[in-house]
Amino acid sequence: MNWFSRKLLEWYNPDSRNLPWKLTGDAYKIWLSEIILQQTRVEQGTPYYLAFIHRYPTVRSLAEAPLDDVLKLWEGLGYYSRARNLHAAAKQVLEQHGGQFPDKYEDILQLKGVGAYTAAAIASFAYHLPHAVVDGNVYRVLSRVFGIATPIDTTVGKKIFEQKAAELLDVSQPAIYNQAIMDFGALVCKPQVPLCGQCPFSTECKALEKNEIQQLPVKSKKLIRTARRLHYFVWSDGQSLFIRQRADNDIWKGLFEFPLWEELPGSKLSDRKKALSAMSGDMKFRETGSLTYKQALTHQQIIALFHEISVENLPATPRGCIRIKQKQLSAYAFPKIIRQYLEDRLNFLS
Ligand code: SF4
Repeated sequence: MNWFSRKLLEWYNPDSRNLPWKLTGDAYKIWLSEIILQQTRVEQGTPYYLAFIHRYPTVRSLAEAPLDDVLKLWEGLGYYSRARNLHAAAKQVLEQHGGQFPDKYEDILQLKGVGAYTAAAIASFAYHLPHAVVDGNVYRVLSRVFGIATPIDTTVGKKIFEQKAAELLDVSQPAIYNQAIMDFGALVCKPQVPLCGQCPFSTECKALEKNEIQQLPVKSKKLIRTARRLHYFVWSDGQSLFIRQRADNDIWKGLFEFPLWEELPGSKLSDRKKALSAMSGDMKFRETGSLTYKQALTHQQIIALFHEISVENLPATPRGCIRIKQKQLSAYAFPKIIRQYLEDRLNFLS
C-alpha cells in the first residue's frame, strides 16, 4: 500500500460522518443518494433521500411512477434535470437490464445522468470494483497534498487528477478508500479553513509547505452568471388562478409557474403592459402589488417579479395555461423561488 492510502486509512473512522446510505450495499440506494447529493449539502439532501426510498423502494417502482410525481417529490431540491434523468435512468434499468441495477462500471456509466464520478462511487460502494472517485473533495485534497496546479476544469487537468486518483487507490478496499478520501476532504481539508494542525499529511503537503492552500485547486474559468428578469402575472379571483407547465429546454423544465413575460435585453416596460393586456382582453383589472424575489442558480441570476392582479372574474385561460383552484396548488411542483413566494403570500391567495 502506498504512503498516501496508508495514512488516509489510518485516519479514517467509518463512523465520522453518519450518512444513511453508508449503511447499505444496495446499488439502487447508493445511486439515488449520489444523484441527490450532487450540488446539494448532506443536511438538505438526507430528508429527500429518505422520502424517495420510502416512496420508491425499488428501481422498478421509480421507473413506473409518473414523472410529475417524481418532480413533486424533488420539489425544493433544485437542479431539476437530475430528477428527470433519475426517472429516465430507472426506465433504462427496467428496459435494458430487466430491473436489475447493472453491476459493471461501463454499464453504470451508460445510465442517464451518471458521469464518471457517480459510476465509480456505485461500482466501488455496491460492488467493490477498483474505481477511484474524483469529486470536488478529491480534487481539493490531491491538488493540495501533491501541489498540482493544473486547472481542474480542463481536459488535461481532469486526466491528471483521474490518473493520480487511480494510482493512489487501494484496490483491495476501494469502497473504504473512496469513502475515506471524500470524508477527509469534507472534514479536514475543507475549502476555506482546512484543519492543517490535525492533518496526517501536514509533513508531506506541498500546499502547506509553499503557503498555497487558498490557491489550490486552480480553476481556469470564472463563473459568469447571466441575469434574467421573469415577470409573473398572478391573476386571482380569490378562488382560482392560472398556472402553466414549463416545457422548453430551459431551467425548471416540467415544473409549474404563473403566466410569464420575460424581460429580454432591449425590452420596454410598455411590452410588459402589452403582454398583460393580451391576457386580459377587454376586462378591467387592477394590479394590487408587485413583489421581487431573487435566486442564484449555477449559471443564472434569477429575478422574479410577481405582479398580483385581483379581479372579480378571471379572464379566459391564457394559451398554454390551466386554471386551478388555489387549494390545489400544493399538488403541483414549483421552482423554489415560486414556492417561496406562495409560502409568503398565502394571505393573498387564500
Ligand atoms: S495540511 Fe492542510 S491543506 Fe494540506 S492536506 Fe492537510 S488539511 Fe489539507
